[in-house]
Amino acid sequence: MAVTQEFIETFKVICPACKGKVVLKEDGSGIKCLECRRVYPVRNDIPAMIVEEATIEDEEPQKTG
Ligand SMILES: [Zn+2]
Repeated sequence: MAVTQEFIETFKVICPACKGKVVLKEDGSGIKCLECRRVYPVRNDIPAMIVEEATIEDEEPQKTG
């Protein structure tokens, strides 16, 4: 079963780092946190909701605090 936005909402997937809301990336390659911008990889249709596995998308410069 592929990971979809419906999957995220059904299973109430949240960011394990900040408990923020997450959304599926448009290309389905990862699950992105809207709060802290961490992107959790999806491998073999299994989302790795692990802080250590996440990458941070820096579209904007990071602010401290
Ligand atoms: Zn987060």
